[in-house]
Amino acid sequence: MRIEGELRKEIVDSGRELYQLRLMTGTGGNISGRIDDKAIVITPSGVCKGKMKAYDLIRMLIETGEVTAGGKPSMETPFHLAFYRQRKDVGAVIHCHPLFCTLLSVTGETVRTDLTPEGLMVLKDVSFIPYATPGSEQLAKNLAMGMDGHDAFILESHGAITVGRDIPDACHKMETLEFLAELQVRARGNDRLKPLSAEEKDRILALANNGK
Ligand SMILES: [Zn+2]
Repeated sequence: MRIEGELRKEIVDSGRELYQLRLMTGTGGNISGRIDDKAIVITPSGVCKGKMKAYDLIRMLIETGEVTAGGKPSMETPFHLAFYRQRKDVGAVIHCHPLFCTLLSVTGETVRTDLTPEGLMVLKDVSFIPYATPGSEQLAKNLAMGMDGHDAFILESHGAITVGRDIPDACHKMETLEFLAELQVRARGNDRLKPLSAEEKDRILALANNGK
């Protein structure tokens, strides 16, 4: 269980960092964190994530989506709740539209993790989620089908999601995901691009799993 005040501060701090890194722009993107097995805190709708205050955040119940403190929650609340219902290991969810992740998403590609050891260590494999209207229950269903065993997602023609055990973990994964997306886009046309060997991939994945 998290102390709610500390969790709110972490979400506000991560919003400012992601905004300063230009991973979140305008009022786009949303962040949530788990208090316990019953409730989460989530960012409000239509507020710049670089300028939020702790009291702007909304507390809601995981099972019913009932708001128990605060105003209007993020429009993407359905998929945030889907993660907390289905993945007991998830303590934080971040969604945004970083430029290079979104560039890949509109061309129907996912992010490769096999070009550098860090990509594999941090993200293992990135799931590609078929398009559904933002905020819809269908998008939450598409994610529910692809969420097990993955912590990073490219949403077709939309953006990216990362999940983690806590807010700093999910933030670190989003930064890594966008770095890899940029690497992949900038490497286009370079026919010398080569992935890690199958043996090295196995070795790195074994290291990553031992670190858990
Ligand atoms: Zn979005």
